[in-house]
Amino acid sequence: MESGKSHNKGALKVNAGVEKPDVVNPLLKKKTARFKKNRISPEEYFKGIKAGNRTLLSQSITLIESTLPEDREAARKLIQWCLPLSGKALRLGITGVPGVGKSTFIESFGLYLIEKGHKVAVLAIDPSSMRSRGSILGDKTRMEHLGNSNKAFIRPSASAGTLGGVARKTREAMILCEAAGYDTVFVETVGVGQSETAVAQMVDFFLLLMLAGGGDELQGIKRGIMEMADLIVINKADGENKNRANLAKREYENALHLFPPLPNGWQPSVMTASALYSENLTEIGDKIETFLRLTKENGSFEKNRKNQAYQLFEETIHQAIHDHFFNLPEIKKRLVKYKTQILDRQLSPYEASQKLLDFYFGLFSK
Ligand code: GDP
Repeated sequence: MESGKSHNKGALKVNAGVEKPDVVNPLLKKKTARFKKNRISPEEYFKGIKAGNRTLLSQSITLIESTLPEDREAARKLIQWCLPLSGKALRLGITGVPGVGKSTFIESFGLYLIEKGHKVAVLAIDPSSMRSRGSILGDKTRMEHLGNSNKAFIRPSASAGTLGGVARKTREAMILCEAAGYDTVFVETVGVGQSETAVAQMVDFFLLLMLAGGGDELQGIKRGIMEMADLIVINKADGENKNRANLAKREYENALHLFPPLPNGWQPSVMTASALYSENLTEIGDKIETFLRLTKENGSFEKNRKNQAYQLFEETIHQAIHDHFFNLPEIKKRLVKYKTQILDRQLSPYEASQKLLDFYFGLFSK
């Protein structure tokens, strides 16, 4: 700072015209060169991940989340190398309305698992952060105790793009975490929209956190989410709330009995817990163990993973075709034209889509 000041003799001289490019340009060049030199190669990321280096794991997740074309090839390589090292972890989905205690639960349950010798990674899909900069899950200082453990890795939600895009990045982040030796991966989301379906499609076990009192409509939980749950946990079953939590447990048990049995042979159940006071965590852990034993023995665990892999394949193709179509300049132009014609009722949506698809397929038949 000091030497720069004396060299340029104040701002006036710097701004005086001729000298400016001479000063600024070499500096810029130097900076770019240094940045390039310091760029971490995919090989180095991979080494770091395998060594369980959390900083490099975090940076490599940033790399796979990057939308820069120059990062894409490195990200692809990295995922490819990590894939064979992944797949052995338990993937646990956690959902529930804001305030139900998801972070508190993941923190206590995560610490409980670490005490039992596990390594825990926490990822999140936060639909609110896709619409705006605001975020329900990501921005709070969350899970401080868990974050302080060197057996835990916590990553806030990827915030760019569509739900499909973010879900794909989360799956990829999961692969990197597993390659880094995390044997339990939590994927957290808010259970109020579509994101819980995306999470259910990437985990082995899906846990729904609920509160006593105030019915499921009040909690904004749709019946569909209850049907996806392998376990419902009524949280905050402590103090004066304990009795109400037990009542709610019975109510939800009755509701669950109305659902058809699951093809994997598992009977979802309801438990109470206190994430804040770490109560009933052992029972929940045992329940998950029982699930794993059953589904691994009857083959449905593996079947579910295979189905998810196939689903991912189809989704990736869908997404690529979608992007290819909508990013073509000729299509973009025609979309505007057809939109006007549809809105003016000059053309039906069927006719318009047929015309546009004919044009699109025509591009390949030449
Ligand atoms: P999230 O929005 O679902 O992640 O919920 P948080 O984990 O941030 O919890 C919301 C509030 O509920 C916080 O003030 C927590 O301290 C509190 N909380 C979470 N779990 C419990 C619990 O088991 N018992 C009680 N009494 N409070 C809890």
